[in-house]
Amino acid sequence: MNEPDAKRVLAVSAHPDDVEFTSGGSVARWTADGWAVYLAVCTDGGKGSRDPNIDPRALAARRRQEQRDAAEILGVAEVIFLDHPDGGLTAASELTKEVALLIRRTRPHRLLGWDPWKRYQLHPDHRAAGLATLDAVLAAGNPHYFPEQLAAGMKIHQVPEVYLFGAEQPDTWVDIGQTFERKMAAIERHASQVENVWEAAQQMSRCAQDYGEQSGAAYAEAFKVLHPFCDT
Ligand SMILES: [Zn+2]
Repeated sequence: MNEPDAKRVLAVSAHPDDVEFTSGGSVARWTADGWAVYLAVCTDGGKGSRDPNIDPRALAARRRQEQRDAAEILGVAEVIFLDHPDGGLTAASELTKEVALLIRRTRPHRLLGWDPWKRYQLHPDHRAAGLATLDAVLAAGNPHYFPEQLAAGMKIHQVPEVYLFGAEQPDTWVDIGQTFERKMAAIERHASQVENVWEAAQQMSRCAQDYGEQSGAAYAEAFKVLHPFCDT
């Protein structure tokens, strides 16, 4: 943790590229404002191809580098690869424990992750990463969960706010007018996932404009925000 006084975000994605597509403009804004952003990528992304002959391990290695390059563009302080197999995530206690440890280590003011309750969300990793992340928020703030982490010197941490991306019912919009180009530059670094850069830019631009219309900005990203420890 380089700057103890800086505000911190822990972002938890299922795959390399999730955060860039859903929240890249917001992350770029927060880092420009001096926030330290830590990005945990739960799976290796080894199934992210329609080519049946591709070697999943080679693809995972390529995507790891793409993720590092994209994170650098967004100003992310550290990328943590949890390296679960792509498509193999379940909201099992192992992932919850790993994310709880990251919460206790990075002590974020804001946590960013998948909304697990989006209806018709087909990707199991997105649901599982979202659920495990929220389970971890509760666990990290309670000394009876994973006490071995506390015995190893960690302290409990109650995350004040959670920003869920991919949300069906967003209630918070971040103006990304100043950072949309950096978001697109970061997305372009995921070259294995973006077949047509121009098309991707059009699609992202339409999406950001739609969210912008909801919030009175030219371009925006949208989140459902929770304050997990306020209303218990
Ligand atoms: Zn994904």
